[in-house]
Parts: sequence; structure tokens; C-alpha cells
Amino acid sequence: MKKNKRKFKDYMWILSLTYLFLGIFNILFAWLGLLCFLIPLIISIAGGGKTYCNTYCGRGQLLNLMGSKLNLSRNKNIPVFLRSKWFRYGFLTFFMSMFFIMLFNTYLVFSGASELKEVIQILWSFKLPWNWVNTSMVSSWVAQFAFGFYSIMVTSTILGVVTMILYKPRSWCVYCPMGTMTQLISQAKYKS
Ligand code: SF4
Repeated sequence: MKKNKRKFKDYMWILSLTYLFLGIFNILFAWLGLLCFLIPLIISIAGGGKTYCNTYCGRGQLLNLMGSKLNLSRNKNIPVFLRSKWFRYGFLTFFMSMFFIMLFNTYLVFSGASELKEVIQILWSFKLPWNWVNTSMVSSWVAQFAFGFYSIMVTSTILGVVTMILYKPRSWCVYCPMGTMTQLISQAKYKS
């Protein structure tokens, strides 16, 4: 029984990969990515520390697989500045600012002040048209959130893959905003 559970945990990377493909198939599946935001925070707040990172994160497993098993990583040490607190907290601040801007854009569509934009924004800069699926079955703001959230997930995946290639397989985990947040929560709980 314990063996089966262990095996299941080892294949979380398939969920991460499936998520990215589902977003291509239908952007509304992007909402599922909220689980990757909420579950690590809930586990951490409940006292589980970095259990999500160490055991359940499909993205971490995927980067490890690509870097180690497929030999796509140069296996170099990550530069010291990427490991520094100022960079990790600075990136977290930037990432969350972008997240809240995405939420504000969703609100603008919800309130009717803005039109739905069927684009994916890569690296917060490049806009790719993403309009091959009819999203009219849901409210415009629901679709807008999906476009915004999928943009964040694709962007962070690209950063993770580039960092994996340049440095060690899981180097993205050094400055991943979810990792930084769960670490901050764990530290706060440990101190209290
Ligand atoms: S640091 Fe981020 S990518 Fe790495 S295991 Fe944790 S949540 Fe996953």
C-alpha cells in the first residue's frame, strides 16, 4: 500500500505536463493551476513546511527529469546572486505585483471597463494570440483570468526550463515564488 502511494507521488510531473497541454487545448483549464498556488500554501500554513516542494510538486519533478534523466542540464552551480535573499524576495515581490495586475485586469473585464483579450503574455512582455477556442460559454472575466493565469504558468515554466538548462536541474526552485512563500510561512511558524 505504501509502495503504491510512493509511486503515485513520483508521477506528479505528468500532471504538470498535462496542465500545459490542456491550456493549449482549452484555455479554461488554466483555472486548475490555482491548485498549484493554493495547495503549497495550505500545506505550509497547516505546518507541513515544504512538504509540497519535497514531495508533490510536479514542476520540480519535471525539471529534475528533464535535467537529470534527459541530460538537458549543464549541471552548473547557480550564481550566488540568484540565491541571495534580495533576489529571491525581489523576484517574489515582482511576481506577486504581476499577479495582482493580472487580477486587476480580470476585474476590469468583470466590471465592463475593459474587453476580453484573447492573448497569452509570455515573460510579461510578448503577446501571443490564443483565440482558437470559443470561451463564450463562460463570463468574459472567467476567460480573462484563465488567459492571465496561464500566462503566469507558462512564463514561470519557461524561466524554470531556462534555469534548468543553464544551471542544475532544480535551480528554479531556488527563486521560485511558491518556494519562497512556503519557506517564509515555515520560518514564521517556527519562530512563533
Ligand atoms: S520551489 Fe517551486 S517549483 Fe520547486 S518544488 Fe517548490 S513549488 Fe515546486
